[in-house]
Amino acid sequence: MGRTVGIDLGTTNSEVAIVENGQARVLPVLHDELMLPSCVGFSETGQLLVGREAWRQYAAAPDRTVKSIKRWMGTSHTTTLKINETETRDYLPYEISAIILRTLKQRAEAVLGEPVTHAVITVPAYFTDAQRQATKLAGEVAGLEVLQIINEPTAAALTYDARSEETERVLVYDLGGGTFDVSVVEITGDVTEVLASHGNNRLGGDDFDRRLQLYLAQRYRETHNLDVPEDAATQARLLRVAEQVKIGLSTHAFVSVREAFLGSQGSQALHLETEIARSDFEDLIRPLLEETLTAIDRALEDAKLSAREIDRVILVGGSTRLPLVQEMVEEHLGQTPMDGVQPDLCVALGAAIQAGVLSGESVDAILVDVCPHSLGVATAMETAFGIVPGFFSVIIPRNSVVPISRSQVYYTVSPDQTVVVVEVFQGENTRAEENVPLGSFEVTDLPPQIASTLQIEIHFDFDINGILTVTATEKGKGNQGSLVVNNASVHRLSSHDLAQAQADLDALFLDEMDDVEAMEAELDQLIEVDATVLGTASPEIAALQARAEKTLAALDDPDEMEELGALISQLQYAKPNAVAKAQEELEDFLYYVDQNN
Ligand code: AMP
Repeated sequence: MGRTVGIDLGTTNSEVAIVENGQARVLPVLHDELMLPSCVGFSETGQLLVGREAWRQYAAAPDRTVKSIKRWMGTSHTTTLKINETETRDYLPYEISAIILRTLKQRAEAVLGEPVTHAVITVPAYFTDAQRQATKLAGEVAGLEVLQIINEPTAAALTYDARSEETERVLVYDLGGGTFDVSVVEITGDVTEVLASHGNNRLGGDDFDRRLQLYLAQRYRETHNLDVPEDAATQARLLRVAEQVKIGLSTHAFVSVREAFLGSQGSQALHLETEIARSDFEDLIRPLLEETLTAIDRALEDAKLSAREIDRVILVGGSTRLPLVQEMVEEHLGQTPMDGVQPDLCVALGAAIQAGVLSGESVDAILVDVCPHSLGVATAMETAFGIVPGFFSVIIPRNSVVPISRSQVYYTVSPDQTVVVVEVFQGENTRAEENVPLGSFEVTDLPPQIASTLQIEIHFDFDINGILTVTATEKGKGNQGSLVVNNASVHRLSSHDLAQAQADLDALFLDEMDDVEAMEAELDQLIEVDATVLGTASPEIAALQARAEKTLAALDDPDEMEELGALISQLQYAKPNAVAKAQEELEDFLYYVDQNN
């Protein structure tokens, strides 16, 4: 018997994983890529293309390419693919899936250097018997003996070391490229039961891309007074840019877009040049995410459970990397989702664990690399008596799974400030100086601005080898400074230990919040603080400030400029209980300007 693998046969991407020395790992399908786009096609010369190459030609040659075949599994829907100018070929859904599975088998064999003969394949919990049978058949056609078809949420739960003797209820929220489903699973020892499952098999990251594509087209129209050309190739380019921007916004607060030669006017080439804030994008997709929360409620209702009775929440699927998804799910369910396994690899790893169990291998918990200390920067607090420096603002919390990228937006504290010093620390103390300094750098030549309105995005990128790269970018002119720390360390924890460490950290952070609150109260008393600027602002306020700044730059009436400048400062320096009023006054003024200019 050859090797047994676990396969996540996804709508958008598929992965193959194995258990080796007790550890599950996803195998690369091409160079270091772990995901194979679930896309099949024929090139112009009639050559079979599978994965990235087929995906690339989809926009230009939809008659020679097929994607998202999983939606049709178990039906007799026929896909006709053009092979060359005179020849076409008809495929049933399981035949296309068999091509994808065969490719995964071959790539795994190339990496392992031995035959792969058996597999565990995952399917959505809501798949009917016909859909499961079609998936099994696809595996057999691909040359694999299918040991078991398991539910995706069950596989996801397995990666989190859930085989405890006590009954656990796990909610698995799976948001991929084209589908969404939420399942409530009950696990007791080796028995996993899906109590309820709901979803929408027409909702996913592709919809977010399309919304952003329209938004980018609108920005282009505002700049050039012309529409983006309608042809398929240009629209496909715009859609690709939209996806890149979306992915960038998962780790950055702003993303600059520069797509050259998108259209033309006479002989002049027209470019798309704009900046998208995470808050703009979030406003576009929030209504879609609200639908997913309704599905959670329905699944809980069907399972006859309340949110409080859920022991763990697991996020699965590439789209759950969006910070807004994490925030909304957390707020809705009142608990932090598990962190530790990459959301788009989780199902394949679970399938491999099950494959390992069925083929008699001993399987440990998955080991994950985490950063052992919180990482952040020193920030200042402005008071009536001047700036109080030295607060530690955490950007990457301790025990975050690496690799990880996070960013935060900060503001300058002084009017006409032209230099920002970024001091990087690791540690858990709320006072920066009590932590370990990792280095510092400056961003210079900042454009002088009215008090405290200049935004600086600080981006932390912590890789698997413990290399921390910190980049600070000033939003106006784009000036940058950066620092690379080579000696930050990485620890390995089992997923079980990680869950424990995260629970400890949550408790620690509660204590620290008390510390911060006590410290702020003390400051209040000592120096009658009349302005509190911790350097960060809520996303809503940051968006309002960004909008106000933009408006300010476009105004030419000196009275309006002065008034707007004053309102921006008022909001910036507002005491917590005056923020809402300052926000409202600024919003009203911006509305007035919009109506009158
Ligand atoms: P999946 O079906 O799980 O492979 O997920 C694919 C979807 O995840 C696509 O829509 C991707 O654009 C999206 N995706 C992948 N990485 C990210 C990311 N970092 N932030 C937001 N969406 C992502």
